[in-house]
Amino acid sequence: MVEKDQKIQVIVRKRPLNSKEINKGDQDILQRSSADTLIVREQKLKVDLTKYIEEHHFTFDGVYNEDTTNQELYTSAIQPIVQASFQGAKVTCFAYGQTGSGKTFTMMGEGSIPGLYLLAATDLFYYRDQYFRNIKFTVSFYEIYCGKLHDLLNDRNQLFAREDAKQTVNIVGLQNKPVETVEALMKIIGTGMESRTTGQTGANDDSSRSHAILEINLKQGKKVVGKMSFIDLAGSERGADVSGADFKTRMDGAEINKSLLALKECIRALDQEKRHTPFRGSKLTQVLKDSFLGNCRTVMIANVSPGLLSCEHTLNTLRYADRVK
Ligand code: ADP
Ligand code: MG
Repeated sequence: MVEKDQKIQVIVRKRPLNSKEINKGDQDILQRSSADTLIVREQKLKVDLTKYIEEHHFTFDGVYNEDTTNQELYTSAIQPIVQASFQGAKVTCFAYGQTGSGKTFTMMGEGSIPGLYLLAATDLFYYRDQYFRNIKFTVSFYEIYCGKLHDLLNDRNQLFAREDAKQTVNIVGLQNKPVETVEALMKIIGTGMESRTTGQTGANDDSSRSHAILEINLKQGKKVVGKMSFIDLAGSERGADVSGADFKTRMDGAEINKSLLALKECIRALDQEKRHTPFRGSKLTQVLKDSFLGNCRTVMIANVSPGLLSCEHTLNTLRYADRVK
């Protein structure tokens, strides 16, 4: 059973098969067999080319089905850490998974379906108004693309992370906008999302190669008294793309790979206070350093596609998530 106050929680979210997959004759190979168990039915071939199925069982802090709504996922896994941010915790929610597995759907939502950004924002303002009237919120939204930082709230301006004498990492020049209402916050997030997908090259594909980091700071005067971060990670398959078409693609792949491996090590180290935490292993972990130290809580959502055609990536995602615990 999930302990509500554990530092790291790793959950899996399966999305439904989409019409494109159904038209291709793809089939669902994932079965949630209990609240915390997922079975993957991998199809394999014997030497004589007859097919057989190998079952892989994975256990996590929670497994969510294709029927689970963003609201249900939020209430069960994210609301507790939103509350913890008012108790001084630095809380972080990651969406990990291959491109097309539902990371952005989970974070941002789609059409009239709210995502975690809006659901959390609504609660943050609600709790503030009810119990913590002296807290104010500020928001930052930036991206790591090819190992470089870009401010999504300021024309994709390139930013630089600096470590000060106290070994605190600061992102120089990062916009940190005060927000007074949920609507204002969501408008800013919308602007950032647009800057994400239509920035630089305008290619949609770029968003799968970048990590998007949304930070909501809880402030009392100038002091940050809590923090809530949402990280929509680059497509995990990009990190494996080391044989990509051109040099730049391979370099991007290597950078993404490095950051996802460093992230895994940093999250694992959360539970073991004395363990060396390799923040400097990547730009991603360097800028998130603060969120891995002291009073912190992390939820990793491993998003998976249900289809047979995604089997290899799904197994990679689940093995990665399994090692994070
Ligand atoms: P990613 O950000 O991981 O690349 P997306 O969030 O863009 O993936 O999702 C890919 C597609 O799958 C989108 O069209 C989205 O609407 C759909 N999708 C993802 N998750 C769900 C879900 N839980 N329910 C319904 N549709 C989903
Ligand atoms: Mg996405």
